[in-house]
Amino acid sequence: MNRWGIPDWLEREVRARDRECIYCRVPMFEMPAADGSRKSIATWEHIINDERIVTRENIARCCGSCNSSKGTKELSVWIESIYCKQRGIGKDTVADVVKQALKDGD
Ligand SMILES: [Zn+2]
Repeated sequence: MNRWGIPDWLEREVRARDRECIYCRVPMFEMPAADGSRKSIATWEHIINDERIVTRENIARCCGSCNSSKGTKELSVWIESIYCKQRGIGKDTVADVVKQALKDGD
């Protein structure tokens, strides 16, 4: 288990799958940028904001920028936000794992 309560096998699987932000698709890094920016740092994300759902469908990696924008908003609400619109993030541009979560939420 890591400190977010994610088992090692799942952490490895998700790290291998999500090399780009699942929302805005920027390449992510494990460390802050040289200028100290945390925007492109890889963060752990619960797609559905429920920490009890620890599955490969709900645990993912997104960039610090998207993570702080999404916060505790529901995915279907956040995807319509100005932040997403400005970055061209939409139901058709997100990673498959997010598309699936949006479908399941309908
Ligand atoms: Zn992002």
